[in-house]
Amino acid sequence: MATNSFEFFPPRTPEGREKLRATWGELAKLKPRFFSCTYGAGGSTREGTLDTVLEIRKAGHEAAPHISCVASTKKDIAEQLERYRAHGIRHLVALRGDLPSGIAASGEFRYASELVAFIRASSGDWFRIEVACYPEVHPQTRNAADEVTNFKKKVDAGANAAITQYFYNTDSYFRFVDECRAAGITLPIVPGVMPIGNFSQLARFSDACGAEIPRWMRLKLEGYRDDATSIRAFGLDVVTSMCAKLLAAGVPGLHFYTLNQAALSTEIWRRLKL
Ligand code: FAD
Repeated sequence: MATNSFEFFPPRTPEGREKLRATWGELAKLKPRFFSCTYGAGGSTREGTLDTVLEIRKAGHEAAPHISCVASTKKDIAEQLERYRAHGIRHLVALRGDLPSGIAASGEFRYASELVAFIRASSGDWFRIEVACYPEVHPQTRNAADEVTNFKKKVDAGANAAITQYFYNTDSYFRFVDECRAAGITLPIVPGVMPIGNFSQLARFSDACGAEIPRWMRLKLEGYRDDATSIRAFGLDVVTSMCAKLLAAGVPGLHFYTLNQAALSTEIWRRLKL
């Protein structure tokens, strides 16, 4: 059976914390396999990520912190892993991370594969490690053919499963999975799903991370202008039918980028009758 997971970012204010508490409380009713919480480059959200994960775990749910290695030293990462271990955390989402533009990186890790190798070398099999992958090609990948080769480096370094960048074109996912299988990658590749609530925010994210909003969707969404009700209705229809297609094809699960909101993910899950 497909399993689902929900991703949050660490809240910055007491109001944000309160709101997130209500969000995961609502989403917990869907019995996800796990929740995850993002981690700012260079450890900028270190405490917020850990606090969020600990609070969710305290309520009896599985929660995994993300950990990113850009602009970090091996000592920073070793300390962070030690803290996670001390709290009994056994599940990580391991990433390279992105620095804000204009800031140069000066860390000891170049790629997520090096982070995964470091985690395995220092912690053995203590952690289940999820990594990221990109059916529509990461913006910094030099040649599209390298996407699978570079992903395989993380897999060979010891990842257990992968979560994709979001996409709205299922063919990109199916083809990517076929290419991975042909390259000998056998781990579960879980589609990342971005519900649509706000077009300008989605367009900004998509431009930055290289996820394509297909032309017909972009034009429809632009055409609704400030009509939030129509954007939401259209987004729910499109994303629900995409998820239904993915589930019918036997994907191992769905990972929702919730942006700390419960309503859209819950409604998609309800419509999928899961
Ligand atoms: P990598 O796997 O290192 O890949 C980065 C780039 O380097 C790619 O273009 C890849 O093709 C290339 N590459 C990899 N290995 C090599 C090599 N040996 N030689 C040459 N090129 C190579 N960001 C955060 O800051 N915090 C988060 O919590 C976070 N969570 C995320 C969760 C998910 C599910 C996803 C999909 C993304 C997340 N991100 C997060 C964003 C992520 O950090 C960025 O996409 C980042 O640019 C790449 O991270 P990565 O781990 O995929 O890097």
